[in-house]
Amino acid sequence: MNDELATMARIAKQARERQEANPRSRAIAIRTKCLDCSAWQTAEVRQCVVVACPLWPWRSGGKVSEKELEIHFKKVHDTPLV
Ligand code: SF4
Repeated sequence: MNDELATMARIAKQARERQEANPRSRAIAIRTKCLDCSAWQTAEVRQCVVVACPLWPWRSGGKVSEKELEIHFKKVHDTPLV
C-alpha cells in the first residue's frame, strides 16, 4: 500500500514539474488533468471508459488526427446513453 501511495505521489510530482516547465502545453495540461481525475494512476487513464468526456481522445497525450476525432465523436453521439 505504501508503495502504491509513493508511486502516486511520484507521478503527481512529475506531472506538476512537467506542467510548470511547459505552462502553455495543451497536451501536458490534459494529461495532468486526466492523471488527477484517475488518482495519479497511469493505467487508469489508459483504461478510462468515460468516452463522452471531452478530453478522452487526448488523455494519453498523443496526437489525434481529424479523422480519428470524427470517428470517435460520431460513435459517442450515436450511442444511446441508456
Ligand atoms: S478522459 Fe477520462 S481520465 Fe481524462 S478527464 Fe476525462 S474522465 Fe478523467
